Amino acid sequence: MTTARLVYADESGRMYDHPYLEMAGSSGGSWTEVDDDILMPLPPGSELFLLPDRVPVGYDRKKKRFVKLGKDPHNPQKKVQAVAAFMAPAHTQILTAAYHSKQKASILPLFSYTAVGWQGGQFVVAGVRVDPLMRQDIDQFDLERLERRAKRALTLQSHNRLIQHLGSCALTYGCPAAKNYFLGRWEAPLPTSPQCNAHCLGCISLQEGDQICATQERITFVPTPEEIAEVAVSHLREAEDPLVSFGQGCEGEPLMQGKTLKEAVKLIRGQTGAGTINLNTNGSLPQTIAELRDDGLDSIRVSLNSAREAYYHAYYRPRGYSYSDVTGSIRAMKSRGGFVSINLLTLPGLTDEEGEVEAIIRLIGETGIDLIQMRNLNIDPEWYLREIGYRSSGRSIGILEMMKRIRASHPQVNFGYFNPCLNPSK
Ligand code: SF4
Repeated sequence: MTTARLVYADESGRMYDHPYLEMAGSSGGSWTEVDDDILMPLPPGSELFLLPDRVPVGYDRKKKRFVKLGKDPHNPQKKVQAVAAFMAPAHTQILTAAYHSKQKASILPLFSYTAVGWQGGQFVVAGVRVDPLMRQDIDQFDLERLERRAKRALTLQSHNRLIQHLGSCALTYGCPAAKNYFLGRWEAPLPTSPQCNAHCLGCISLQEGDQICATQERITFVPTPEEIAEVAVSHLREAEDPLVSFGQGCEGEPLMQGKTLKEAVKLIRGQTGAGTINLNTNGSLPQTIAELRDDGLDSIRVSLNSAREAYYHAYYRPRGYSYSDVTGSIRAMKSRGGFVSINLLTLPGLTDEEGEVEAIIRLIGETGIDLIQMRNLNIDPEWYLREIGYRSSGRSIGILEMMKRIRASHPQVNFGYFNPCLNPSK
């Protein structure tokens, strides 16, 4: 039960709270009531989205049923549309937005759509902060200082194509990791690969069909090991709690550039032992992971939508590798003393389904994963569940209960959102 009211928008996009319908949520495609203990104020830096051709759904406590809101209660001639929240980084969704899609509804763009309501004079969301690190908090970015520092670096290092690329990432696309690079702190990005050996339904850097478009431009060149090392070495030596990460939203799969990465890691570790060198990856090439670890790679983050092979294959549509290669990469890193995170692409209903939680617990037990990064899956939930052939095979226990169960089975495992700096600056 909640005191949060349903939020909806009129045709012009003005948002209202409903006079009596309660906020509802969705889990695995089923509408669900909301409890106050899973709500939090809308985090600063979040956005609110209008969902075209989708009817808002609320809960009528008196009639004890879900209600599709077809008309604006303040103006019954007017149609209404559903609203969802795209939460700021470091926050994981517990329920997605509740709505009914009209026949003509087109697929929603590649964002996450969290349930939002109105309570005590503010917007609230069904979400939780899973990482205290302020790396991407909106109030951490002094844009004037960023512009000054970025422009100076772009002028002084005009010879380095990677720095020029990061310049447009930071100043045009507003990529928080690229911004932190120019601000000399935390995690800096090292994109390297125009190619990929997967074909993810929700790839944000390359979409082949015309149903949905990619939200990022993919890098078009492979930087040299020297260009990579020039970015990485100064950052690792000088930045606060420094780490550098291969595998960004604006590229394909970095393991496709294994030779370049190996040379770059050797060059970097030949000049500094500071900070952490991390690789965000689809984990497709265990042998390359093993070699990179031997060359000095400190940690990897393997992206997973599910620890159940069928759903993994249905989403990643791998070309020339399989789920067993992914678990092989995790083992290759752990057996060499490396640190391993999984980037768990979280969708309420599927991720917290009992069968999925058991599969994740088994995977941790078999491989020794250190950290689960709870990232929201940026995709139209209905389209995604249809495309992967999702069939509910058990109770969804709730995202918070899922985290509790995993912790109970594996107390050594942490939850978070960001790649950790394994040896922070003194
Ligand atoms: S692994 Fe990454 S780059 Fe490759 S298809 Fe998937 S999301 Fe895109």
